Amino acid sequence: HMSPRQAQHSSGDYDSSYPKEVRKYLKTYGLTPPAVEDFETQEKRCMALLEKKSSSIEKFIYLTQLRATHVHLFYRLLASHVKPSRRHHRDVSCVSLLWFAEADARPQELTPFIYTPTVGEACQKWSEIFTQPEGMYLNYWTDKGRISSVLQNWPHNVEITVITDGSRILGLGDLGINGMGIPVGKLALYTACAGIRPDATLPLCLDLGTNNKEFREDPLYLGTRKEKVSADEEREFLDELMAALTEKWPGIVIQYEDFKNPFPSLERYRDTYTMFNDDIQGTGAVILGGMVAAVKYSKIPVKDHRAIFLGSGSAGVGVAKQIVEFFIKEGLTEDEARRKFWLVDSKGLVTNDRGDKLAEHKEYFSRDDNNGKQIQSLSRLVDFVKPTIIMGLSTIGGAFSEDIIKKMAELNEYPIIFPLSNPSSKSECTFEEAVNGTDGKVLFASGSPFNDYTYNGKTLTPGQGNNMYVFPGIGLGAILSKAVCVSQEMIYASAIALSESLNEEEHAKGWLYPDIRRIREVSVLVTRGVIRAAQKSGVDRELAIRNLDDEELIQYIETRMYDPFKERDRVLTEVMHVMG
Ligand code: NAP
Ligand code: MN
Repeated sequence: HMSPRQAQHSSGDYDSSYPKEVRKYLKTYGLTPPAVEDFETQEKRCMALLEKKSSSIEKFIYLTQLRATHVHLFYRLLASHVKPSRRHHRDVSCVSLLWFAEADARPQELTPFIYTPTVGEACQKWSEIFTQPEGMYLNYWTDKGRISSVLQNWPHNVEITVITDGSRILGLGDLGINGMGIPVGKLALYTACAGIRPDATLPLCLDLGTNNKEFREDPLYLGTRKEKVSADEEREFLDELMAALTEKWPGIVIQYEDFKNPFPSLERYRDTYTMFNDDIQGTGAVILGGMVAAVKYSKIPVKDHRAIFLGSGSAGVGVAKQIVEFFIKEGLTEDEARRKFWLVDSKGLVTNDRGDKLAEHKEYFSRDDNNGKQIQSLSRLVDFVKPTIIMGLSTIGGAFSEDIIKKMAELNEYPIIFPLSNPSSKSECTFEEAVNGTDGKVLFASGSPFNDYTYNGKTLTPGQGNNMYVFPGIGLGAILSKAVCVSQEMIYASAIALSESLNEEEHAKGWLYPDIRRIREVSVLVTRGVIRAAQKSGVDRELAIRNLDDEELIQYIETRMYDPFKERDRVLTEVMHVMG
């Protein structure tokens, strides 16, 4: 028996690029207008429609509808080439993904309308703008004890899921089930960047209640109007969920995102399930990737680096831990590496003698060498530590003042300054400020994008430590290697592969990260690094790819990647085959 849901056509079947044979085969003949269109025509219509939407949120809604009704066209749009003549070239290096440009128009990026920053506004308004389901909602009060049977309703085979409980969406706080925008958007990036088939992705939002009183009282709110469950209740629900997901789809990769306290679940499941947390581990890896390059350019030996971290949350600690591992691989002992870090939180320098109970995740970096001094001002801490590196993961916009930046420049020829807080308004400093205060010598990466800046007649390009550089490859690498868990070696390898993905031109310009337009190519390299690490750490189960050499492995990855431009030909071949 087919359920009503399965009997419907799937998203993409109404594609106006399909010829008559395909329409007859899919039983969509007569349901779509007669014209058979090429992509350029489809693209023109979509971009004209998009142009007419005056606000970002309207563009977001339009693109959501497009994905729901014409999934391959949606991904073709995202992946449009800058040079149309190269559109069907198989070499991924020619694919300028995520950018759209008419032949002679300025490139226009679409990702801001499917993920940050627009997705933040979309989550705040999720219950107002909701039109169609795009993932699964699991509810603590009605589904506990029955998660397995609810999962049976999902009509596709799943290779990867992104889960949130909405309790800390971006920097916007607890948004309850309105947080669904995050798994939906993030999985769209998995498809766009790493070519994971859209129908193999499952956006999952848990309804564990919400502490957002305004939402609980909003008549349009689509979740349960109860306060957030306790940590113990949450853990029981997650235990059941992890087992149910892995039983239904063996090998499924499970990515956690935007949980208020993400550390306990990572510790609990990381060795037993194929799971990782992007807020901690993905962030750690992408910033390490840029840091490896920055340390090299700084010409200071690893043993002489010292780092101040403003912010000791999931991102701060995640990043510091990854860099510790890099320092160890470069020859320091673990203790030497750990002691290169001075972490600061909302109460000042994290020390043993501060008189408060430190959150567990901060203990590893807590200092015992402050001689009873409680250093609360960043400026004084800079004088005390004399850092080579200063990182901002504090959500405090402007925290790196002119005074701090100038001190960094006095202390170092090439100071490493990474203001990573998002969005741009929360960035600890701007690119312009960092360049001006260091006479253009800063080694810079931010969380949010900044424009190029011309200083002394030279155009400088800021690095952006965007998690998008690594999480798609971590996910695809875990899927293709059939990893039993996402080992620390795999996370670390994603960072190293990223740092090695820069081409000669990018190196020559002193960039810390590759051009984001090469994301698809970069993702292939990250995926290869992750697969190799899975094999080395012995957590892989895909025996068939163990003996491939590096070049063969690249080819294997590429042939396994979904390409929305080849979808029409793929279906056509299938039709011809069936019809003899
Ligand atoms: P979080 O868990 O809320 O951590 C924020 C940290 O900043 C906490 O340790 C907090 O102290 C500290 N803090 C708050 N006010 C401070 C102050 N006045 N002075 C010093 N420290 C202060 O958030 P998160 O997930 O780690 O994210 C932090 C930031 O990093 C966000 O802006 C996020 O957008 C950004 N981020 C960037 C990337 C990227 O660039 N790829 C990735 C992830 C996150 P307490 O511990 O005392 O509360
Ligand atoms: Mn996040």
